[in-house]
Amino acid sequence: MQSLTKIDKVVNLCSRRGLVFPNSELYSPLGGFFDYAHYGLAIKKRIVQSWWNYFVKQREDIVGLDGSIISSPRVWQASGHLENFTDPLVECKKCKSRYRADQLVRDELKLEVEGLDEKTLAKLIGEHKLKCEKCKGELAEAKTFNLMLKTHVGVVEDDSNAAFLRPETAQTIFADFKTIASFARKKLPFGIAQIGKAFRNEISPRNFLFRAREFEQMEIEFFLHPGKTPPFEKIKLNLKAKALTAEEQGNGKSGSMVEKSVEGLLKDNVIANDWLAYWIAEAWFWLTEEIGLDKEKLRIRQHVATELSHYSKETWDVEYDYPEWGWKELVGIADRGNFDLQQHQTHSKKDLSVFDEETKQKILPKVIEPSFGLDRLFFTALIDAFEEEGEKTLLKLGKSIAPLDCAVFPLMGKDNLDVKAREVFEMLKRRGLECEYDESGSIGKRYARHDEIGTPVCITIDYDSLEKNDCTIRHRDSGKQERVAITQLPEKLGA
Ligand code: AMP
Repeated sequence: MQSLTKIDKVVNLCSRRGLVFPNSELYSPLGGFFDYAHYGLAIKKRIVQSWWNYFVKQREDIVGLDGSIISSPRVWQASGHLENFTDPLVECKKCKSRYRADQLVRDELKLEVEGLDEKTLAKLIGEHKLKCEKCKGELAEAKTFNLMLKTHVGVVEDDSNAAFLRPETAQTIFADFKTIASFARKKLPFGIAQIGKAFRNEISPRNFLFRAREFEQMEIEFFLHPGKTPPFEKIKLNLKAKALTAEEQGNGKSGSMVEKSVEGLLKDNVIANDWLAYWIAEAWFWLTEEIGLDKEKLRIRQHVATELSHYSKETWDVEYDYPEWGWKELVGIADRGNFDLQQHQTHSKKDLSVFDEETKQKILPKVIEPSFGLDRLFFTALIDAFEEEGEKTLLKLGKSIAPLDCAVFPLMGKDNLDVKAREVFEMLKRRGLECEYDESGSIGKRYARHDEIGTPVCITIDYDSLEKNDCTIRHRDSGKQERVAITQLPEKLGA
């Protein structure tokens, strides 16, 4: 029997502990839709909280938005999504199975496919006589497939009433820019942040949460002032990251990826825009310092010209080195110029520029967009934290995103140990900690249960606790135990 890969084990853990699992398992899941249950939801909420705290609450130059999922189709016409938001599709002539042409070529021919157009893909499929994976039938010519999920608004279900579920949260921000700029009392540069659902009718959703059809994005559109530079001293520009530039990929030097400073890349003009460098640095800092992802598993990679989205001048991805899959995009940071505002201005025939008091000029600002996929980050954080020690499974999640701060156990559910443990549990809850009371099974089993979902600390109340008003704290990562006075517990746990 083939042994399970690390990713298989993480997916199994997610279903075994009910963190997240395919939607409609009762019937036949549609593919690409997922339900998060208790602990999974808790981890996801903490990622959201950390993001909002770091990028919105702690700053003065970003305001929030929670826009609608469905917008006027004219938004998608203006943004270019109706025309350009497509993937190359091939269909089996015999059994009608559908594949993403670029994925098929990459999987079958082991080629780098980023940025190859339909014609090139069709040529490769023809030359190498690639067949349908299911029935070995002949494949038809590759064509474009629009990824937006369609619905109808109103009682008439024809194309006159067609509407689309948003494929990115960004466009509501652009469409609302002028309104928000007028009441937010922010001067350029400033940003608008949004966390919300996005939908893409992926041709072949795969890799669990990594490529879903319904997922959440955490996006910022940061609107620039032409004369204002980022706060260099604040932005950790000298931080070092493994970096792969477009030029290196063009020269086939993808193996020579070395650590470079973001500041150096900016000075050498590899990163063309100082605010783009700033946002790469901020994204890197949040992922590594706040979420706690392993720096060794991360790199930044510049898009080559052929893979840039229709709106982008320059894009860098923060990529993660996934077990068995290799490097893949986790976060995208794009220089969108003023493409989107320009498009909405043209299509709506409304002036979307803002008046700058200092220069007495109207500005249609350029935009830098850091775009984080929440579900993809959730899955990546689990993969990053997953460890096995002998028979034990641990999720070594950082404290900021663990589903609980601690769990409280009585050694046994009798002799007043349970009463005392409940008192401690209630006290910790009152102090704002996320904690759980657990008295079922042996202490060893309870530790194992909590190691598996990532609880960083377990607290046990034993017979000594009744006399001395203290308890045992056991730390997930080291397995070490220490004796702590109950009065000291909140401080010890950072409450
Ligand atoms: P993109 O606009 O394609 O650059 O997407 C922005 C971010 O959204 C990516 O960096 C991912 O983290 C996330 N994302 C995009 N597509 C999907 C998907 N199908 N499933 C889950 N996350 C996605």
